[in-house]
Amino acid sequence: MMKPPVRVAITGGAGQIAYSLIFRVASGEMLGQDQPIILNLLEVPQALTTLKGVMMELQDCAYPLLQDVAITDDPNVAFAEIDYALLVGAAPRGPGMERADLLKINSEVFKIHGKALNEQANRKVKVLVVGNPANTNAFIAMKCAPKLDPKQFSAMMRLDHARAVNLLAAKVGVNVSAVENIVVWGNHSANQYPSIAHALVNGKAASSLVEQNWVENEFIPAVQQRGATIIKARGKSSAASAASAVVAHMRDWAMGTEKLVSVAIASDGSYDIPPGLVYSFPVTIKNGEFSIVQGLDIDKFSRSRMLVSQKELEQERDIILDLLG
Ligand code: NDP
Repeated sequence: MMKPPVRVAITGGAGQIAYSLIFRVASGEMLGQDQPIILNLLEVPQALTTLKGVMMELQDCAYPLLQDVAITDDPNVAFAEIDYALLVGAAPRGPGMERADLLKINSEVFKIHGKALNEQANRKVKVLVVGNPANTNAFIAMKCAPKLDPKQFSAMMRLDHARAVNLLAAKVGVNVSAVENIVVWGNHSANQYPSIAHALVNGKAASSLVEQNWVENEFIPAVQQRGATIIKARGKSSAASAASAVVAHMRDWAMGTEKLVSVAIASDGSYDIPPGLVYSFPVTIKNGEFSIVQGLDIDKFSRSRMLVSQKELEQERDIILDLLG
Protein backbone atom coordinates (compact mmCIF):
# COMPACT_ATOMS: atom_id res chain seq x y z
CA MET A 1 0.00 0.00 0.00
CA MET A 2 1.15 3.54 -0.75
CA LYS A 3 2.23 5.70 2.17
CA PRO A 4 1.00 9.29 2.67
CA PRO A 5 3.19 11.76 0.72
CA VAL A 6 6.23 13.40 2.27
CA ARG A 7 7.47 16.87 1.43
CA VAL A 8 11.03 17.32 0.24
CA ALA A 9 12.64 20.74 -0.27
CA ILE A 10 15.67 21.14 -2.52
CA THR A 11 17.53 24.45 -2.59
CA GLY A 12 19.70 25.59 -5.48
CA GLY A 13 17.11 23.89 -7.69
CA ALA A 14 18.46 25.39 -10.92
CA GLY A 15 22.06 24.37 -10.20
CA GLN A 16 24.17 21.51 -11.53
CA ILE A 17 23.78 19.06 -8.65
CA ALA A 18 20.05 19.65 -8.46
CA TYR A 19 19.71 18.92 -12.18
CA SER A 20 20.65 15.35 -11.42
CA LEU A 21 19.28 15.12 -7.88
CA ILE A 22 15.71 16.30 -8.44
CA PHE A 23 14.97 13.56 -10.95
CA ARG A 24 16.41 10.80 -8.79
CA VAL A 25 14.39 11.93 -5.78
CA ALA A 26 11.18 12.16 -7.82
CA SER A 27 11.72 8.69 -9.30
CA GLY A 28 11.69 7.14 -5.81
CA GLU A 29 15.37 6.28 -5.60
CA MET A 30 15.86 8.15 -2.34
CA LEU A 31 12.87 7.16 -0.23
CA GLY A 32 11.58 4.05 -1.94
CA GLN A 33 9.04 3.03 -4.56
CA ASP A 34 6.14 3.10 -2.08
CA GLN A 35 6.76 6.70 -0.96
CA PRO A 36 4.87 9.49 -2.79
CA ILE A 37 6.66 12.83 -2.81
CA ILE A 38 5.80 16.51 -2.97
CA LEU A 39 8.78 18.60 -4.11
CA ASN A 40 9.41 22.21 -3.15
CA LEU A 41 12.23 23.73 -5.18
CA LEU A 42 13.92 26.92 -3.98
CA GLU A 43 16.06 29.32 -5.98
CA VAL A 44 17.24 32.90 -5.92
CA PRO A 45 14.91 35.20 -7.93
CA GLN A 46 17.31 35.49 -10.91
CA ALA A 47 17.36 31.69 -11.38
CA LEU A 48 13.58 31.15 -11.24
CA THR A 49 13.16 31.09 -15.02
CA THR A 50 15.75 28.33 -15.35
CA LEU A 51 14.09 26.50 -12.48
CA LYS A 52 10.76 26.71 -14.29
CA GLY A 53 12.39 24.85 -17.19
CA VAL A 54 13.63 22.16 -14.81
CA MET A 55 10.13 21.85 -13.37
CA MET A 56 8.66 21.40 -16.86
CA GLU A 57 11.16 18.61 -17.60
CA LEU A 58 10.30 17.00 -14.29
CA GLN A 59 6.60 17.09 -15.12
CA ASP A 60 7.37 15.55 -18.51
CA CYS A 61 8.94 12.54 -16.79
CA ALA A 62 5.44 11.67 -15.47
CA TYR A 63 6.88 10.03 -12.36
CA PRO A 64 4.00 8.21 -10.64
CA LEU A 65 5.36 9.00 -7.16
CA LEU A 66 5.55 12.75 -7.75
CA GLN A 67 2.30 14.21 -6.43
CA ASP A 68 3.13 17.87 -6.75
CA VAL A 69 6.00 20.24 -7.46
CA ALA A 70 6.29 23.90 -6.53
CA ILE A 71 8.97 26.48 -7.26
CA THR A 72 9.62 29.56 -5.17
CA ASP A 73 12.26 32.08 -4.10
CA ASP A 74 10.88 32.29 -0.56
CA PRO A 75 12.42 29.90 2.01
CA ASN A 76 9.36 30.27 4.24
CA VAL A 77 7.24 28.85 1.42
CA ALA A 78 9.79 26.22 0.35
CA PHE A 79 10.22 24.86 3.88
CA ALA A 80 6.54 24.83 4.94
CA GLU A 81 5.77 21.46 6.59
CA ILE A 82 8.68 19.71 4.90
CA ASP A 83 9.96 16.33 6.10
CA TYR A 84 13.33 16.50 4.33
CA ALA A 85 15.51 19.51 3.47
CA LEU A 86 18.29 19.09 0.94
CA LEU A 87 20.24 22.34 1.18
CA VAL A 88 22.26 22.26 -2.02
CA GLY A 89 22.23 25.94 -3.05
CA ALA A 90 25.15 28.11 -2.01
CA ALA A 91 27.05 30.98 -3.56
CA PRO A 92 30.14 29.72 -5.41
CA ARG A 93 33.64 30.91 -4.60
CA GLY A 94 34.41 33.75 -7.03
CA PRO A 95 37.85 34.61 -8.46
CA GLY A 96 40.23 35.80 -5.76
CA MET A 97 37.73 35.08 -3.01
CA GLU A 98 39.14 33.80 0.29
CA ARG A 99 37.50 31.01 2.28
CA ALA A 100 36.51 33.62 4.90
CA ASP A 101 34.68 35.68 2.23
CA LEU A 102 32.79 32.58 1.07
CA LEU A 103 31.89 31.81 4.67
CA LYS A 104 30.56 35.31 5.12
CA ILE A 105 28.34 35.22 2.02
CA ASN A 106 26.98 31.77 2.71
CA SER A 107 26.49 32.43 6.41
CA GLU A 108 23.77 34.88 5.37
CA VAL A 109 22.06 32.23 3.21
CA PHE A 110 22.19 29.54 5.91
CA LYS A 111 21.09 31.95 8.63
CA ILE A 112 17.93 32.65 6.64
CA HIS A 113 17.44 28.96 5.85
CA GLY A 114 17.96 27.94 9.49
CA LYS A 115 15.39 30.47 10.68
CA ALA A 116 12.87 29.40 8.03
CA LEU A 117 13.34 25.73 8.96
CA ASN A 118 12.87 26.65 12.61
CA GLU A 119 9.52 28.27 11.89
CA GLN A 120 8.11 26.29 8.98
CA ALA A 121 9.37 22.72 8.78
CA ASN A 122 7.81 19.59 10.20
CA ARG A 123 9.18 19.20 13.76
CA LYS A 124 10.86 15.94 12.70
CA VAL A 125 12.52 17.36 9.56
CA LYS A 126 15.84 15.83 8.51
CA VAL A 127 18.26 18.41 7.10
CA LEU A 128 21.24 17.65 4.86
CA VAL A 129 23.62 20.46 3.94
CA VAL A 130 25.54 20.07 0.67
CA GLY A 131 26.33 23.70 -0.24
CA ASN A 132 29.88 24.63 0.76
CA PRO A 133 31.43 25.16 3.23
CA ALA A 134 28.98 22.39 4.13
CA ASN A 135 29.99 21.60 7.73
CA THR A 136 29.96 25.20 8.84
CA ASN A 137 26.81 25.99 6.89
CA ALA A 138 25.13 23.13 8.77
CA PHE A 139 26.48 24.58 12.04
CA ILE A 140 24.93 27.97 11.18
CA ALA A 141 21.55 26.53 10.16
CA MET A 142 21.47 24.46 13.36
CA LYS A 143 22.26 27.48 15.55
CA CYS A 144 19.52 29.49 13.83
CA ALA A 145 16.94 26.75 14.42
CA PRO A 146 16.80 26.44 18.22
CA LYS A 147 13.33 24.82 18.11
CA LEU A 148 14.79 21.85 16.22
CA ASP A 149 17.11 19.21 17.69
CA PRO A 150 20.74 19.59 16.50
CA LYS A 151 20.54 15.87 15.69
CA GLN A 152 18.22 16.80 12.81
CA PHE A 153 21.15 18.43 10.94
CA SER A 154 23.92 16.78 8.96
CA ALA A 155 26.45 17.75 6.32
CA MET A 156 27.42 15.57 3.39
CA MET A 157 30.60 13.48 3.49
CA ARG A 158 29.14 10.60 1.52
CA LEU A 159 30.82 11.54 -1.74
CA ASP A 160 34.21 11.69 0.00
CA HIS A 161 33.40 8.31 1.56
CA ALA A 162 32.48 6.79 -1.81
CA ARG A 163 35.58 8.25 -3.43
CA ALA A 164 37.75 6.62 -0.75
CA VAL A 165 35.98 3.27 -1.16
CA ASN A 166 36.45 3.42 -4.94
CA LEU A 167 40.15 4.31 -4.77
CA LEU A 168 40.96 1.56 -2.26
CA ALA A 169 38.96 -1.04 -4.21
CA ALA A 170 40.76 -0.07 -7.44
CA LYS A 171 44.17 -0.30 -5.77
CA VAL A 172 43.51 -3.76 -4.35
CA GLY A 173 41.67 -4.94 -7.48
CA VAL A 174 38.30 -5.79 -5.94
CA ASN A 175 34.71 -4.67 -6.44
CA VAL A 176 33.66 -1.75 -4.21
CA SER A 177 31.26 -4.06 -2.35
CA ALA A 178 34.28 -5.90 -0.86
CA VAL A 179 35.35 -2.74 1.04
CA GLU A 180 33.97 -1.95 4.50
CA ASN A 181 34.74 0.43 7.37
CA ILE A 182 36.35 3.27 5.49
CA VAL A 183 36.04 6.45 7.54
CA VAL A 184 36.38 10.00 6.30
CA TRP A 185 36.91 12.18 9.36
CA GLY A 186 36.53 15.93 9.73
CA ASN A 187 35.67 18.69 7.33
CA HIS A 188 34.41 18.45 3.73
CA SER A 189 37.49 20.30 2.53
CA ALA A 190 40.99 19.50 1.34
CA ASN A 191 41.82 18.91 5.02
CA GLN A 192 39.49 15.96 5.42
CA TYR A 193 41.11 12.73 6.64
CA PRO A 194 40.12 9.65 4.65
CA SER A 195 41.27 6.70 6.76
CA ILE A 196 41.77 3.05 5.95
CA ALA A 197 42.97 2.31 9.51
CA HIS A 198 39.87 0.20 10.25
CA ALA A 199 38.94 -0.74 6.69
CA LEU A 200 38.44 -4.33 5.64
CA VAL A 201 38.69 -5.79 2.14
CA ASN A 202 36.82 -9.07 1.92
CA GLY A 203 37.17 -9.23 5.72
CA LYS A 204 40.97 -8.69 5.69
CA ALA A 205 42.64 -5.60 7.19
CA ALA A 206 43.19 -3.14 4.33
CA SER A 207 46.38 -1.96 6.03
CA SER A 208 47.89 -5.42 5.43
CA LEU A 209 47.17 -5.16 1.67
CA VAL A 210 48.62 -1.74 0.85
CA GLU A 211 51.79 0.15 1.82
CA GLN A 212 51.55 2.99 4.35
CA ASN A 213 53.57 5.04 1.87
CA TRP A 214 50.76 4.64 -0.69
CA VAL A 215 48.17 5.61 1.94
CA GLU A 216 50.00 8.77 2.97
CA ASN A 217 51.35 9.96 -0.37
CA GLU A 218 48.77 8.78 -2.89
CA PHE A 219 45.47 7.65 -1.37
CA ILE A 220 44.86 10.52 1.08
CA PRO A 221 45.82 13.33 -1.34
CA ALA A 222 43.85 11.67 -4.17
CA VAL A 223 40.65 11.58 -2.09
CA GLN A 224 41.22 15.11 -0.79
CA GLN A 225 41.87 16.46 -4.30
CA ARG A 226 39.33 14.35 -6.22
CA GLY A 227 36.93 17.28 -6.68
CA ALA A 228 39.70 19.45 -8.16
CA THR A 229 40.84 16.57 -10.40
CA ILE A 230 37.31 16.24 -11.77
CA ILE A 231 37.06 19.98 -12.41
CA LYS A 232 40.35 19.79 -14.34
CA ALA A 233 39.09 16.94 -16.51
CA ARG A 234 35.49 17.99 -16.97
CA GLY A 235 35.76 21.76 -16.82
CA LYS A 236 32.96 21.76 -14.26
CA SER A 237 32.63 20.49 -10.71
CA SER A 238 31.27 17.06 -9.88
CA ALA A 239 27.50 17.05 -9.99
CA ALA A 240 26.03 13.62 -10.81
CA SER A 241 28.27 11.92 -8.23
CA ALA A 242 27.35 14.54 -5.64
CA ALA A 243 23.66 13.92 -6.37
CA SER A 244 24.22 10.18 -6.04
CA ALA A 245 25.83 10.75 -2.66
CA VAL A 246 22.86 12.86 -1.50
CA VAL A 247 20.49 10.04 -2.45
CA ALA A 248 22.61 7.47 -0.58
CA HIS A 249 22.97 9.68 2.52
CA MET A 250 19.25 10.39 2.80
CA ARG A 251 18.14 6.85 1.96
CA ASP A 252 20.33 5.51 4.75
CA TRP A 253 19.12 8.21 7.15
CA ALA A 254 15.48 7.42 6.39
CA MET A 255 15.79 3.64 6.21
CA GLY A 256 18.80 2.88 8.42
CA THR A 257 22.08 1.07 7.82
CA GLU A 258 24.22 -1.23 9.92
CA LYS A 259 27.17 -0.52 7.65
CA LEU A 260 29.58 2.16 8.77
CA VAL A 261 29.19 5.39 6.76
CA SER A 262 30.79 8.84 7.12
CA VAL A 263 28.43 11.64 8.14
CA ALA A 264 29.18 15.13 9.47
CA ILE A 265 27.08 15.79 12.58
CA ALA A 266 27.37 17.88 15.74
CA SER A 267 30.04 16.25 17.88
CA ASP A 268 28.96 14.79 21.22
CA GLY A 269 32.60 14.78 22.35
CA SER A 270 33.33 11.36 20.85
CA TYR A 271 36.99 10.84 19.87
CA ASP A 272 37.82 14.08 21.76
CA ILE A 273 36.28 16.25 19.06
CA PRO A 274 34.95 19.42 20.74
CA PRO A 275 31.19 19.13 21.40
CA GLY A 276 29.00 20.96 18.92
CA LEU A 277 31.52 21.07 16.06
CA VAL A 278 29.96 19.66 12.86
CA TYR A 279 32.60 17.01 12.20
CA SER A 280 32.49 13.84 10.12
CA PHE A 281 32.41 10.61 12.12
CA PRO A 282 31.88 6.94 11.38
CA VAL A 283 28.19 6.28 12.07
CA THR A 284 25.53 3.63 11.81
CA ILE A 285 21.86 4.61 11.52
CA LYS A 286 18.76 3.14 13.16
CA ASN A 287 15.21 4.50 13.42
CA GLY A 288 16.28 7.75 11.77
CA GLU A 289 19.07 8.40 14.30
CA PHE A 290 22.82 8.49 13.82
CA SER A 291 25.05 6.62 16.31
CA ILE A 292 28.73 7.41 16.28
CA VAL A 293 30.66 4.12 16.16
CA GLN A 294 32.65 4.00 19.38
CA GLY A 295 35.90 2.39 20.39
CA LEU A 296 37.96 2.67 17.20
CA ASP A 297 41.69 2.92 18.01
CA ILE A 298 43.13 6.23 16.88
CA ASP A 299 46.88 6.05 16.31
CA LYS A 300 49.26 9.01 16.33
CA PHE A 301 49.15 9.49 12.55
CA SER A 302 45.34 9.47 12.48
CA ARG A 303 45.08 11.85 15.44
CA SER A 304 47.39 14.36 13.77
CA ARG A 305 45.28 14.30 10.58
CA MET A 306 42.03 14.53 12.55
CA LEU A 307 43.39 17.55 14.42
CA VAL A 308 44.14 19.46 11.20
CA SER A 309 40.47 19.17 10.20
CA GLN A 310 39.32 20.00 13.73
CA LYS A 311 41.42 23.18 13.80
CA GLU A 312 40.07 24.28 10.42
CA LEU A 313 36.49 23.75 11.61
CA GLU A 314 37.17 25.61 14.86
CA GLN A 315 38.50 28.55 12.86
CA GLU A 316 35.42 28.53 10.61
CA ARG A 317 33.17 28.30 13.68
CA ASP A 318 34.92 31.27 15.33
CA ILE A 319 34.47 33.44 12.22
CA ILE A 320 30.81 32.47 12.15
CA LEU A 321 30.17 33.03 15.84
CA ASP A 322 31.47 36.59 15.35
CA LEU A 323 29.12 37.05 12.39
CA LEU A 324 26.13 35.56 14.22
CA GLY A 325 26.88 37.95 17.10
P1 NDP B 1 26.31 23.03 -7.79
O1 NDP B 1 24.92 22.54 -7.89
O2 NDP B 1 27.36 22.43 -8.64
O3 NDP B 1 26.81 22.93 -6.26
C1 NDP B 1 25.98 23.38 -5.21
C2 NDP B 1 26.78 23.41 -3.93
O4 NDP B 1 27.17 22.11 -3.58
C3 NDP B 1 28.07 24.23 -4.02
O5 NDP B 1 28.19 24.99 -2.83
C4 NDP B 1 29.13 23.17 -4.11
O6 NDP B 1 30.34 23.59 -3.56
C5 NDP B 1 28.51 22.15 -3.19
N1 NDP B 1 29.12 20.83 -3.15
C6 NDP B 1 29.25 20.11 -2.01
N2 NDP B 1 29.85 18.97 -2.23
C7 NDP B 1 30.13 18.93 -3.52
C8 NDP B 1 30.78 17.98 -4.33
N3 NDP B 1 31.28 16.89 -3.81
N4 NDP B 1 30.90 18.22 -5.63
C9 NDP B 1 30.42 19.38 -6.13
N5 NDP B 1 29.80 20.32 -5.39
C10 NDP B 1 29.67 20.10 -4.12
O7 NDP B 1 26.39 24.61 -7.94
P2 NDP B 1 25.68 25.55 -8.99
O8 NDP B 1 26.42 26.85 -8.87
O9 NDP B 1 25.46 24.88 -10.30
O10 NDP B 1 24.24 25.73 -8.36
C11 NDP B 1 24.00 26.39 -7.17
C12 NDP B 1 22.63 26.99 -7.26
O11 NDP B 1 22.33 27.48 -5.97
C13 NDP B 1 22.54 28.17 -8.24
O12 NDP B 1 21.48 27.92 -9.13
C14 NDP B 1 22.23 29.36 -7.33
O13 NDP B 1 21.32 30.26 -7.92
C15 NDP B 1 21.60 28.66 -6.16
N6 NDP B 1 21.59 29.38 -4.89
C16 NDP B 1 20.44 29.25 -4.22
C17 NDP B 1 20.26 29.85 -3.03
C18 NDP B 1 18.94 29.71 -2.37
O14 NDP B 1 18.25 28.74 -2.65
N7 NDP B 1 18.58 30.63 -1.51
C19 NDP B 1 21.33 30.68 -2.42
C20 NDP B 1 22.54 30.71 -3.20
C21 NDP B 1 22.65 30.07 -4.40
P3 NDP B 1 31.53 24.18 -4.47
O15 NDP B 1 31.02 25.48 -5.05
O16 NDP B 1 32.64 24.34 -3.50
O17 NDP B 1 31.79 23.12 -5.52
